[in-house]
Amino acid sequence: RPDFKTKPVEQVLDDEPIMNETMLQLTEWIHRFYYCSWGEAIQAALPVGLNFSSVKKLRVKKSNRDQLTKKEKELLEDLEAGDYTLQNARKRWRDGVEKKLLNKAIKSGWIEVWEQPRQRVDYKTAKHWKIPASIEPKEILEDLSEKGQSKKWEQAFEELTKLDLPKTHRDLLGDELFTPYTLKRIEEEGWIESVDLPVETNSQNIGVHDPELIKTLTEKQKNSFDAIREPLDERVFKSFLLYGVTGSGKTEVYIHALKHCLEQDRGGLVLVPEIALTPQTVQRFYQIFGDQIAVLHSRLSDRERFEAWQSLKSGDKRIAIGPRSAVFAPVQDVGLIVVDEEHDTSYKQFDPSPRYHARDVAVMRAHMENAVVVLGSATPGMVSVKAVMEKKHEMLQLPLRPTGTMPEVKILNLLEYKHAMKGSLTAELHLEIEEALERDEQVILLYNRRGYSSYLQCEDCGHIPQSPHSSTSLTYHKKKNILLCHYSGYSRRADTHCEKCGSDNMVSKGSGTQKVEEEMQDLFPDARLLRMDRDTTSGKFGHQKIYEKFLNGEADILIGTQLVAKGLDFPNVTVVGVVNADTELAFPSFRAGERMFQLLSQVAGRAGRAEKPGIVYVQTWKPDHPAIVSARTHDFKSFAKQELANREMLNFPPYSRMVVFQFKSKSISKIQTVSNRFCDAMRKVVGENVVMGPSPSVIEWMNGQFQWEANIKLKRTYNAHVIEELLNRIFDKYKSMKPKGASSVRINVDVDAVE
Ligand code: ADP
Ligand code: ZN
Repeated sequence: RPDFKTKPVEQVLDDEPIMNETMLQLTEWIHRFYYCSWGEAIQAALPVGLNFSSVKKLRVKKSNRDQLTKKEKELLEDLEAGDYTLQNARKRWRDGVEKKLLNKAIKSGWIEVWEQPRQRVDYKTAKHWKIPASIEPKEILEDLSEKGQSKKWEQAFEELTKLDLPKTHRDLLGDELFTPYTLKRIEEEGWIESVDLPVETNSQNIGVHDPELIKTLTEKQKNSFDAIREPLDERVFKSFLLYGVTGSGKTEVYIHALKHCLEQDRGGLVLVPEIALTPQTVQRFYQIFGDQIAVLHSRLSDRERFEAWQSLKSGDKRIAIGPRSAVFAPVQDVGLIVVDEEHDTSYKQFDPSPRYHARDVAVMRAHMENAVVVLGSATPGMVSVKAVMEKKHEMLQLPLRPTGTMPEVKILNLLEYKHAMKGSLTAELHLEIEEALERDEQVILLYNRRGYSSYLQCEDCGHIPQSPHSSTSLTYHKKKNILLCHYSGYSRRADTHCEKCGSDNMVSKGSGTQKVEEEMQDLFPDARLLRMDRDTTSGKFGHQKIYEKFLNGEADILIGTQLVAKGLDFPNVTVVGVVNADTELAFPSFRAGERMFQLLSQVAGRAGRAEKPGIVYVQTWKPDHPAIVSARTHDFKSFAKQELANREMLNFPPYSRMVVFQFKSKSISKIQTVSNRFCDAMRKVVGENVVMGPSPSVIEWMNGQFQWEANIKLKRTYNAHVIEELLNRIFDKYKSMKPKGASSVRINVDVDAVE
């Protein structure tokens, strides 16, 4: 008997618990470490659609109705005819007399209110569009083309015939061509019909299944595989960092390890940054493992998600592949967890709570399940590198590409080209692009801009003002005309004077890809352009469409944000240009250099993967920046060494553990009072030196609310219990000195924050 108050069991919902012991443990760890409620952690670990709450429903009891008025009888009849919840009934009978009537019926016991445990998954069969067997799309299309000009919905039909039907309404409506109107028109014409179909978990086209296509490992790959196999065979926990340049064959190592894991009758879990961005990786796994895989991409409907979840839980499928949240997939008896591109920031959940890092949760889960975890990257994050140095992970290396060589990276110093620019392009990059276009080869131009942060840069020497306290870039706040360090809260007036070269040419920066696109159209009027950024990829197939268009040679130049840098293989690309590398470095984060290096390495990985050699051109004002120098020579190790030395000096992660507190409120004065008071409380608990802030966030005003933040740096070695206890003490202290109006300021806690 527990020593707290309990309630009697009313009904047993499951014969088997939906979470096993490990998942309970794992979510409990998340609850402590990331300082959220256990419930929040459990909710994150369960698929959408699973719900514990119950719903209040109505049941008519009264049979003898002779004494009732006409109105009362009607009410009961209505209730019997419909399947009412209390909430629905209150909505329907909400006004004066009717409301009284309903209340009377409940009070008198004519109707009973009972609690129905909510159906686990509440969904309908999904409507799918398909072309009826009686329709010959070819004939229709021929008719249309004879007619000449076709209407919007006729074009939509043509597009439909190219797709792999049937597809759900939901899937199609993400595309701008398939509006409800166009689909309705086509349906009226009888060219498509709508049918109810059970949704297949793996409904997206992920290629053919042919296990014969597994490759024989090279010597180096085999060494890595053997190292992974050992703890797998012994069924003990071990963590590896697999470091190998893009195209060095990491995926093949994962595949062999997974195969070995399945042969031992254990399951596997593969995490990838974003399924939409890594179609080739998923296809490769599918090729070898076929239907043993459940793909958990973000476009699944609730029902699909639940079915995938079930198929894993029942052991029908042995491997889960998916983004961040797939770390909770109920794979049975996990033997191996792979985290591909382990440095990717999408593994960190920002909102809502729990703000967990899927890579770290993966390591913890592997630990709890006696599994092996492999973190793979061409540009490992500093956290993982440090863990290798501390002998927490074992490092495996694949230094070379099995085919081809590393592309050449050329740095173009903007200072030297100051008087030889064509728009944002140096004369050299401009010429290279022209020549590539003449050879009918393709070009990728990267113009990165993160968030909405703007900064000042000197037009003469390229200098970007830095914070004296955190050696990160200062953010420019136009309204107040100040430069601000968002770690320490340091600020100063912004002016046009350059502290480095003395010129009077400091200007604010921060233009987007769209502007670059317009400029490129002017510079290369005959080239066909494609743009890939958050705006152009918002539709359902947005990303995939742009990707396919470019791959099919339907465009010559692809202009985009960091989205173009991720995981894509374009054999005809020979020139990759980074228009302004400094935009990344200007981002006010202590990780700016790390990001820059990762980005450049990834972009470089895009060029010259096939027979044609590729060159990457990087335009920058800071050719001597360690991130740029190391990226040029593909020298990750020397970069990591310098970067870590820097972090150690300033006690930034991975030498400390940073906890960010975010304050949100509609009132700027309350946010100031509360955040300052909160920081006072923190200083009392953890000491003066550990606390930084409060200061306005990089984006100070969003969705009608002000956002401020503060942070503390904790010892790296603190575990979940110590962190929880410490944060509890901070909040207790704060509670005892809470200012007035504190309740209108929300405080979010983000442990190991990643901006
Ligand atoms: P990474 O995951 O490190 O980026 P991949 O595993 O995708 O690298 O390999 C890059 C390319 O090299 C792919 O086209 C892959 O088919 C090929 N490759 C990898 N390993 C081998 C091998 N052992 N034999 C032949 N080709 C290989
Ligand atoms: Zn200057």
